[in-house]
Amino acid sequence: MKSYRKELWFEVKTRRAFINITPQVEQCLRESGIREGLLLVNAMHITASVFINDDEAGLHHDYEVWLEKLAPHEPVAQYRHNSYEDNADAHLKRQVMGREVVVAITDGQLDFGTWERIFYGEFDGRRKKRVLVKIIGE
Ligand code: ZN
Repeated sequence: MKSYRKELWFEVKTRRAFINITPQVEQCLRESGIREGLLLVNAMHITASVFINDDEAGLHHDYEVWLEKLAPHEPVAQYRHNSYEDNADAHLKRQVMGREVVVAITDGQLDFGTWERIFYGEFDGRRKKRVLVKIIGE
């Protein structure tokens, strides 16, 4: 069995953003040489997500509005976690949007449904953060 590991680094200039990282993940898959197996992508931070959904700007706007209703950033004093920092909402948003995705690899390709793409969800940006890509297979 082959095994491949790589860290992808991001430094988002805004507090929140959604980034389509499918091209970087496909590059990892090519580098791995693996044709059949499983690919894991996970955020290595507890205020960021990796998730799969549609690459559609309206939907990303809807996520932003929905997450702000669920866990508004302001007022920061509403959260007990914020006695030492101001990112409690980012922890909650990350929990909803998820930590990781697993994708089947078939014939050297990500075995996606029609509109599936992989996204990095940043909820407390303006600093360097990592995503882990792990691939196992033959
Ligand atoms: Zn925190």
